[in-house]
Amino acid sequence: MITWGCQMNVYDSARMTDVLRPLGYAPVDNPSDADMIILNTCHIRDRAAEKVFSELGRLRVIRDERKAAGRETVLAVAGCVAQAEGEQILKRAPYVDIVLGPQTYHRLPEMVARAARAGGSVIDTDFPAEQKFDFLPQDAAPQTAANVSAFLTVQEGCDKFCSFCVVPYTRGAEASRPAASVLAEARRMVAGGVREITLLGQNVNAYHGEGPDGGVWGLARLAYALAKIPGLERIRYMTSHPRDMDDALIAAHRDLPELMPFLHLPVQSGSDSILKAMNRGHTADEYRRLVDRLRVARPDLALSSDFIVGHPGETDEDFEETMRLIGDVGFALAYSFKYSIRPGTPAAGAPLQVAEDVKDRRLQALQALLREQQDDFNGSVVDRVAPVLFTGRGRKPGQMVGRSPWLQPVHVDGTDELVGTVRPVLITTRLSNSLAGTLTEECALA
Ligand code: SAM
Ligand code: SF4
Repeated sequence: MITWGCQMNVYDSARMTDVLRPLGYAPVDNPSDADMIILNTCHIRDRAAEKVFSELGRLRVIRDERKAAGRETVLAVAGCVAQAEGEQILKRAPYVDIVLGPQTYHRLPEMVARAARAGGSVIDTDFPAEQKFDFLPQDAAPQTAANVSAFLTVQEGCDKFCSFCVVPYTRGAEASRPAASVLAEARRMVAGGVREITLLGQNVNAYHGEGPDGGVWGLARLAYALAKIPGLERIRYMTSHPRDMDDALIAAHRDLPELMPFLHLPVQSGSDSILKAMNRGHTADEYRRLVDRLRVARPDLALSSDFIVGHPGETDEDFEETMRLIGDVGFALAYSFKYSIRPGTPAAGAPLQVAEDVKDRRLQALQALLREQQDDFNGSVVDRVAPVLFTGRGRKPGQMVGRSPWLQPVHVDGTDELVGTVRPVLITTRLSNSLAGTLTEECALA
C-alpha cells in the first residue's frame, strides 16, 4: 500500500487493508514482496497525474521482475487521481489492473476477483448510493504499535467550492456518516488498542450525521458521545472550516478534556479581497474573532493553518495582510503552498495570475515567519510537564516516541511498555521538529 496525500488517504489505505485481509492479504514493507500493489493517490496540487505515471513506471519494472521469477502482481491505482483521470490511466498505463475512486474501496475484493477472472483491467470510479462504511469488516483491527493513534473518517466531500480547489470534484458532495456507525467503529478501534482518534473530513466540522435518536448530530454532539468510550484518551478532528465552527463545538473545547487543545483551522489568506475571491465566506477579522472565542473556551489551545500564496489577483498589499494576520494570531504549526492551477476550478481561468518568482518570494517570507512562530511555540513547552501519549519506538535504541496534547512528537528514554499509555514528561529540549524530555512522576501536568 503506497499512500500519498492527506490523512483521509491514510484512513482509506487502512480500510482497503481491512477489506483485503479476509482474502489473505497483509501489508508488506517492500513492493518487491507484494502480490498486490495499491497506489493511493492525491490530486490536490500540480503535476499530480505526472507523478502517478512516473511511479507507475517504477512499479511496472518491479512487476516485470516478479513475473520473470514466476510471481504475479496485481497493480491498482486508487484515490483522487484515479477518480479524476479514470480511463486516462488505463490508456496511458494499460498494464494497470484496477482503477478505483475513493468512494468504491469496499468493492475492492470484487474488483480483485473480476480482474483475476477477466484477465483485463477493471475500473470503478462511481459515486455509489450505498455507503462504503457499511461494508467495513466488523472485527477489531489487530493491535500494532502503529495503531495507538488512528484516523476515522466521519464526513467526506465538500459543497463549498473554493475557487482554487479540486476536492468538490474528486471527492463529491458533502456527506456525513450516521453517528452510530462512527461510534461502533470507534469502539472497535479502542478494543484493538487505539487510544487516540482523529476524526477526519474535508470539512469535518460541517458534520451533520443521523443520530441514534433520529435527530441530526453535529460534530460537538459526536465528540461528547465519543468521550464516553472507556479507554479512548484523546479526540482530535481535522480539517475544519472557519465557517462551520459553531457555538456547540467551541463549548465542547471548554467541556471535554479528551478533546485535545490543538486545532487545524485553515484560513488560506489574511486579505479580505482574496478571501472573497477564494469564496471562503468569511473575513480576516471574523477569523480573528473566532480564534479569540476559542481561546476563551480553551486557553491552552494551539492553532495550525493552511496558507496559499499567489492566488490570482493577490497583490503585495494582500500578502502583507496575510503576514499581519499571522502576526496577530500566532500559529503553532502551518502548511503553506504556492497557488497551483487546478484545471476545471474557477481560479484556473482567472485573470491576474501571479508570476512564479513573486509566489516564491512570498512563500519564503511567509514560511520564515511561520517557522519562527513554530519554534517559539515549541520552545514555550520546554521546562514544563506535558502528558504524552506514547505511540511506539523512536529511531535510536532505547528511545520511545509519543505526542504532546499539541501534536508535538516527544522523545524519551524508555521501554515498550509505555506504548498506548499517557505519561507525564518533563520537556527538556526543543529539537528542530520535535521535543525531548524525561519521564516524571510529577502530577502537576501542564
Ligand atoms: N477543506 C480544507 C479547508 O477548506 O481548509 C482544505 C482541504 S485541502 C485538501 C488542503 C489544503 O491544500 C488547502 O487548505 C489549501 O491550502 C491547499 N490547496 C488546495 N488547493 C490548492 C491549490 N490549487 N493550490 C495550492 N494549494 C492548494
Ligand atoms: Fe476545498 Fe474549500 Fe472544500 Fe476545503 S472548503 S475542501 S478548500 S473547496
